[in-house]
Amino acid sequence: MPMRVKLWGVRGSLPTPHAPETLEKRTVELFREFFKRGFRDEAQVPEFLNSLPAHRRGGFGGHTACMQVMTESTSIIIDAGSGIRRLGDVLMGGPCGLGRGEVHILFTHFHWDHLVGLPFFIPIFIPGNKIHFYAVQPDLEEVIRVMFKKPFFPVPFDSLPSKIHFHRLPPRERQKIGDIEFTPYELDHPDPCWGYRFEHNKRVFSYCVDTEATRLSPSELNLDLPLYQNVDLMIFDAQYTLMEVTEKVNWGHAAAPIGLDLAIREGIRRVLFMHHDPAASDEKIFDAERQTREYFQAYLESARAAGRPLPQVEWSFAQEGMLVTV
Ligand SMILES: [Zn+2]
Ligand SMILES: [Zn+2]
Repeated sequence: MPMRVKLWGVRGSLPTPHAPETLEKRTVELFREFFKRGFRDEAQVPEFLNSLPAHRRGGFGGHTACMQVMTESTSIIIDAGSGIRRLGDVLMGGPCGLGRGEVHILFTHFHWDHLVGLPFFIPIFIPGNKIHFYAVQPDLEEVIRVMFKKPFFPVPFDSLPSKIHFHRLPPRERQKIGDIEFTPYELDHPDPCWGYRFEHNKRVFSYCVDTEATRLSPSELNLDLPLYQNVDLMIFDAQYTLMEVTEKVNWGHAAAPIGLDLAIREGIRRVLFMHHDPAASDEKIFDAERQTREYFQAYLESARAAGRPLPQVEWSFAQEGMLVTV
């Protein structure tokens, strides 16, 4: 089986549930459009919904960063944003529910949006489960212990029933869990943040969130360049639009066109953009996707006019719940 990636949380900075008035407004709009387009029968509802762009149905999703990288025999979690709660519920249906699970969680860094789901990850409360935490940062254990410290959380770390192991990762050194190899490379973020390059069966997935991507040329990237080389799927930070990025220098996040330039230069096959701004509505994220499409079209036209080869990259903005084959 090829490597697959499930996106349990793609929002940046803060979990962002839909406000009741947003849902109500969307529901009213959908009812109106259903009848306006001549649909009358409830059997036509699926056809109608399938004709709409995703942002007008469920939207892009509100849970913060959590990915699951899977092969037939191995599962690795990246970050414990609020998306990890639902993943925990799913894992409870397997060996984790019986206290025979072994879970591997890699952290990119310790900003709240990448940690906040951990106290609600049920497998950690089941005796017999083994939970492995990994990070490049030396303060991994200290940070996780603080999360479970009173008055932040009622269950102290030392009384957690699962068996917890901490693993410090050497920077830029290849590691192996099951049949997945991975290597941490540094990103550009106000507090040190490490992306990961995953390899399985000659396929490569690179996770590049959170990053401002201030280093872009091969010489600037230097030791971190392999994160972007020979990559089949890259997940990249697109919290802001290109305009916003110029106003938010040192905020630690990028825009989709920046990732697209990098992907075109390095011949990356597919890109998903995430870490959507919590202040952005689904409509605004959809508009950022539209702006990126214009940027990409302009690139294609100039390449065509100059007789340069056209890039083959496929890209889109990520939605919570996506399952992608690498
Ligand atoms: Zn973040
Ligand atoms: Zn961050």
